[in-house]
Amino acid sequence: MSHHIQCACGAVQGEVSGEPAVQVYCHCSDCRDWLGAPVHAATVWPENQLTITKGADNLTTYARTENSLRKSCKTCGAAVYVVHPNMGVVDILASRVEGLKFQPAMHVFYGERMIDLPDALPKFLNLPAEMGGDGAMG
Ligand SMILES: [Zn+2]
Ligand SMILES: [Zn+2]
Repeated sequence: MSHHIQCACGAVQGEVSGEPAVQVYCHCSDCRDWLGAPVHAATVWPENQLTITKGADNLTTYARTENSLRKSCKTCGAAVYVVHPNMGVVDILASRVEGLKFQPAMHVFYGERMIDLPDALPKFLNLPAEMGGDGAMG
């Protein structure tokens, strides 16, 4: 199983194989500032499952912190994915992964939220303990 990914204009394309390790809504201010959107729908995959097949040199990287390398297309400006080198994972915007049904397991960084999303999912104020947070719930 693999999914095609691409930016808005198609200059950057890739394939991601297998299944995501986890899918989450991220409410952190870093995602919000980068995307210009109140919430980030994130699909997280082991880094080696993503292959950029076209336009790798057409990606630009914004690194507010060394733990999040944010990749956008130079042509259309679309955000495509985020590399988290400290965790060995890539976070691909859910809307970029063709054919994937977005099935978030939780909200993360809910303590930084701009909008409430009242649903039945667990709401971590930062991250669950197994992802390096304190596990506090909101
Ligand atoms: Zn593009
Ligand atoms: Zn975030």
